[in-house]
Amino acid sequence: MKKIGIIICGRYQTCGGGKCFRALKERVGGFSVYSSDEDVEVVGYSNCGGCPGGNIEYVPEEMIKNGAQAIHLATGLVVGYPPCPRIKAFKEFIETRYKIPVVIGTHPIPMKYFTEHEKMSFWEKAGMKEIAPELFKDTENTMKDYN
Ligand code: SF4
Repeated sequence: MKKIGIIICGRYQTCGGGKCFRALKERVGGFSVYSSDEDVEVVGYSNCGGCPGGNIEYVPEEMIKNGAQAIHLATGLVVGYPPCPRIKAFKEFIETRYKIPVVIGTHPIPMKYFTEHEKMSFWEKAGMKEIAPELFKDTENTMKDYN
């Protein structure tokens, strides 16, 4: 049994997590790092607290107390307008401070966001394909399915 925590972007704090929980079940997007025969339990779900992300300092601790072995930064950080400028810093902080791996990405990138972001230079400059590789492995059909 793998236990994980999910931290979403504070701009979407009212999000019910529908896409994330569906993706976990389907093992797509950032959850493709887990095989379908491995049980995964979400032991914490929170948001960054809003820019500049003050919750990142403390909320991983609570998740770890519940047994979290990895933390996922939600896909909204990658595909929001604009994408979160602090993704790399959040990952480095959590991994350094809490000694727990951080996966960038939860649900697949919805195709409608992908097609818009692909036109923007900042997405390329931010190196999204390098920092969130799992999100670039989904098929076009899957991405359309998450629109
Ligand atoms: S853009 Fe980044 S820092 Fe701002 S609310 Fe979203 S995740 Fe938090």
